[in-house]
Parts: sequence; C-alpha cells; structure tokens
Amino acid sequence: MTLLSRREAHQKNSVIQVGSIQFGGDEIIIIAGPCAIESKTQMIACAKVAKQFGAKMLRGGAFKPRSNPYNFEGLGKEGLEILKEASLEVNLPTVTEVLDIRDIDLVDKYADMFQVGARNMQNFPLLKELGKGKKPVLLKRGMSATIEELLLAAEHILAGGNPNVVLCERGIRTFERETRNTLSLSAVPLIKELSHLPIIVDPSHATGQASLVTSMSHAAIAAGADGLMLEIHTDPEEALCDGKQALLPEDFEKMMIRAKKIALAIDRHIS
Ligand code: PEP
Ligand code: MN
Repeated sequence: MTLLSRREAHQKNSVIQVGSIQFGGDEIIIIAGPCAIESKTQMIACAKVAKQFGAKMLRGGAFKPRSNPYNFEGLGKEGLEILKEASLEVNLPTVTEVLDIRDIDLVDKYADMFQVGARNMQNFPLLKELGKGKKPVLLKRGMSATIEELLLAAEHILAGGNPNVVLCERGIRTFERETRNTLSLSAVPLIKELSHLPIIVDPSHATGQASLVTSMSHAAIAAGADGLMLEIHTDPEEALCDGKQALLPEDFEKMMIRAKKIALAIDRHIS
C-alpha cells in the first residue's frame, strides 16, 4: 500500500496554503514569535519585530506543555485572543499549539494553523481529529521519533482527509548534553526524498541556546528547509518560558539579512 505521505503517492512537492502564504513553494517562510504568549504588550511587541524584519507568520503558545507542572502553562483562551489581536495588528497569519483534543474548536477560532508539538506527535486521537478538518497542521517531530514515525504520524492526519500538513524538525534527544537537543539536519533533504510534504526547521528548540540559533537557521535554509520557526523576545531574561533560546530583535534582524542571501544562492527567496 502506498502511504499518502510518501513521494510515491504524490510526485510533486505539496504546497500548503496558510492564509496568503504558501509552504513548499519557492519562498522560504519564516515564522517568529515568543515561546509563550505572556501579555498583550509582549505579544504585540514581538509581532511588530517579526513583521519588521520579514517574518511571514506569527507563533506564540497559549497552551504550553511543561515538564514541570508548576511552571507557566500559558494563558489559554486569553492568550488566543491576544494572538488574534497581534495577527490583525501586523496582518500576519498565526500558528499555535493545540495540546488537547478538547481545545481544537477553540484554537480553530483564533489561529490559522494548528501546531502539534513534539510531545504529542504520536497522540493518535488528536492527529485523527485534526485530520477531519482542513485547517493546516504543523506537525513537529517527537524528541525520540524516527523519520519514519514522523511520516506515519502525518499519515494519521492525511488519512482522515486533511492534506494540509507541514512537518517540522526540532531536534532529537541524543547523548549530547551541551545543547538542549541535537538538530538532525539531514532529516531535511531526506524527508524531501521520502515525502512531498513541506519540512521546516525549528533551530530554537533544536539548540536551546540563542547564540547557536542564527548559524543553525542559515544551515537549515542551505539544507533545503521550506521555512524556519524561531522564538524571539524583546526581553528574554524576563521571559516566562524558553528565554535562553529566544533571539533578541537585533539578532533576529541580523539572522534575516544573511538568510535572504543564502536563500537566493539556492534559487529560493525570503521576501
Ligand atoms: C513549541 O514550539 O512551542 C514547542 C513546545 O516545541 P516542541 O513541541 O518542539 O518542544
Ligand atoms: Mn519554546
């Protein structure tokens, strides 16, 4: 049986539309925003930075999966309202994580794309439910998932009738402790061989360290990624989640300047 996620099922690259933008075309899509939506002021400030330096989409978590249940778990519905406001303010579409099948309808009202996080990559009931609609899904690779398992997770969404899946390499767990995860960059060209689905890279969670994010962003583009998802913050030291890996506005700007040149060198672009 030919799997829907596999190249054999669909020779041409799939192009996934989210609002007015497309994943999997010539343009490399940059998604930027804070790890978590903390307040209206913070989210709007980050949205303006994202827009100013060329991001085409906003991120921000309203439902945060936290290893420690005493840490900030997000603002929930209030966060989604803020995300929508930021989206309208800068005229960019949004992606945000849906953690729980019971929140699908709520997140659907406020965001343009669902994110399934690494910890939920094999939450099959959640994947199947998202497969029933048509809203695009950003599916992140589980921290211990093989590439085959990632593609099979996507299959659960595709098999339900939703063809709008974008994959995300966000680093995997290895013996290395110096970085938060190990960026598995060969996943990008390999997934291009195996699948027609767009694949983006999240260098923020892959490294866990802001000083490494710019290099890995550039490497991901050179490797053929269809986009990047980056955490940014105007005051990383005060961030309620993942401040260590957040790019400052000036670092995001510098990353973007060179990223545009690298994109052109491989016959793509970041507009
Ligand atoms: C995130 O992108 O907000 C996130 C929690 O990442 P991951 O699921 O890859 O850990
Ligand atoms: Mn984060």
